[in-house]
Amino acid sequence: MPRLDPHSYFDSDQPRTRRLDLDLAIEFDRRRVTGQVTLTLDRPSAGPLDLDSKGLAITSVRTTLGRPIVWEPGPEEPILGTRLRLTLPPGTEGVVITYETGHDAIGLQWLAPEQTAGRRHPFMFTQFQPIHARSMIPCQDSPMVRATYHAAVTVPEALTAVMSAGPEGAPVASEAGMRTMFFEMPQAIPSYLIALAVGDLACRELSRRARVWAEPATVEAAAWEFAGVEDMIVRAEQLFGPYEWDRYDMLVLPPSFPYGGMENPRMTFLTPTLLAGDRSLVDVVAHELAHSWTGNLVTNATMDHFWLNEGFTVWAERRILEALHGEAASAASWALGQTALAEAIARFGADSPFTVLRTHLEGVDPDDVYSSVPYEKGSLFVALLERTVGRERFDLFLRAYIQRFHFTSITTEELMAFLEQQLPGVAARVGAEEWLGKPGLPANAPVFRSASLEAPTSLAEGWAKGARPSAEQLATWSHIELLIYLQHLPRQLDAASCRWLDETLKLTARGNYEILVEWLTIAAASDYEPVFGRVREVLVKVGRMKYLRPLYGALGKHPRTRQLGRDIFAAAAPTYHALSRRVVESVMEKYDG
Ligand SMILES: [Zn+2]
Repeated sequence: MPRLDPHSYFDSDQPRTRRLDLDLAIEFDRRRVTGQVTLTLDRPSAGPLDLDSKGLAITSVRTTLGRPIVWEPGPEEPILGTRLRLTLPPGTEGVVITYETGHDAIGLQWLAPEQTAGRRHPFMFTQFQPIHARSMIPCQDSPMVRATYHAAVTVPEALTAVMSAGPEGAPVASEAGMRTMFFEMPQAIPSYLIALAVGDLACRELSRRARVWAEPATVEAAAWEFAGVEDMIVRAEQLFGPYEWDRYDMLVLPPSFPYGGMENPRMTFLTPTLLAGDRSLVDVVAHELAHSWTGNLVTNATMDHFWLNEGFTVWAERRILEALHGEAASAASWALGQTALAEAIARFGADSPFTVLRTHLEGVDPDDVYSSVPYEKGSLFVALLERTVGRERFDLFLRAYIQRFHFTSITTEELMAFLEQQLPGVAARVGAEEWLGKPGLPANAPVFRSASLEAPTSLAEGWAKGARPSAEQLATWSHIELLIYLQHLPRQLDAASCRWLDETLKLTARGNYEILVEWLTIAAASDYEPVFGRVREVLVKVGRMKYLRPLYGALGKHPRTRQLGRDIFAAAAPTYHALSRRVVESVMEKYDG
């Protein structure tokens, strides 16, 4: 009974699910999803079938022909949840499970109307990566199992459901005040890419295959911000081959969404903090789009190989940026990535196993060790391979890799065997064993320099000696140059310096969250009172983990900002996603240490 995924009860000797049919009702008043799932197996089977489940209340399990199935829940395990063992009668082709979700299902977030832009209707959305599909659907919740799906989703008639799937047919009025919407996902995907959001939603067409969804109050701004998405798709196809998912739609979520984006196929989920009003943060869309090849077509077999998804995708994202905006733009993005990686390695410690690319996370909750490492160290490894063999050969390799493994889920070892076959000797030449298996950053990591970033970097590093940018310099800086400048400033400043920065650069009023949060992090760590109101406003409104970690961390530096941090968290915690709450709690644990 081999269990190959440390985060799933999936047993590779047992039949695999090849299709899911979901029939679900979204109950906002009880904050539950109820209904049934039919799992169609890849062959007629008998005997044990182990499924993942977390907090689900199961009411019945039958075969698709209606025969009862004996089922037995195992003990509750904190990371994995509960193993649901079914004993299939001979000839079972599929199972039908009737159930409802638990009270604190970690894969779902329920928002009260006040937490939405429109403030009139509730909202719910799912986030299943890495291992949370099991909190909404009893299933083989491992990326090693790929399945197509169909869904009938019943929602209040004023609301709209979207999924990581194509819509199928028109909605049908069901019981009083409700309607049922239908979805079909014809491509086989891992369970973590199943996604659902329900709210008061409107959409705008961006091209023949791209559309953006958002709350009505936000949809025009979203359509403007992401108007260039078709150009991105065209460039990406030139680089990586045909786009295989038919449509590329996007959904802008309410601000509590814990990530920048989530690459749910056919329906990328995005944080509204990208709506800067100047298209300066659309690199996140390039990232999620790039996952259409690296991650969604070729998928990590387990979370121990997460860098395969993220390292290749960050590299691909920067190739798209380079094709669209030139080498300087991608070099700036690499430079920002290097800073993020250095911070992550410093946080874990350079000898920590969580700075290794090919990890061994048995007994570890992947959410607890989520960081920039698989993204940035992973992309540097890909960039090193590219530099070593030359771009032309590497691009051919990448296309071959995608073609060879598309619609499969693979391990690091499978990638490396394919690399050796296609580009013999390259792995040894770059020191792949150290890159994949050792902590920290190898000495042969590529370094990206960008001439345009040297001025802001050296000005910031000269701060203590009195260096200041001139008005002329500031007038020509892009948002990335400004961000790099802020990143290289001393992390704590006196009040006069904070005042000078804010008056000169108008930082507290910025709508670009990357710049705003970088500034507020410095100002909060400096105990600079004039920004406290803005810090509170941002932390109460936005649940994106990327911003919560540095801001709450900065508030921990002084007694009165520590108290401020505790007060804000007490007010904001009920509105945060469970993942965001955990991040803040882990930051605040260090307040008194
Ligand atoms: Zn990603």
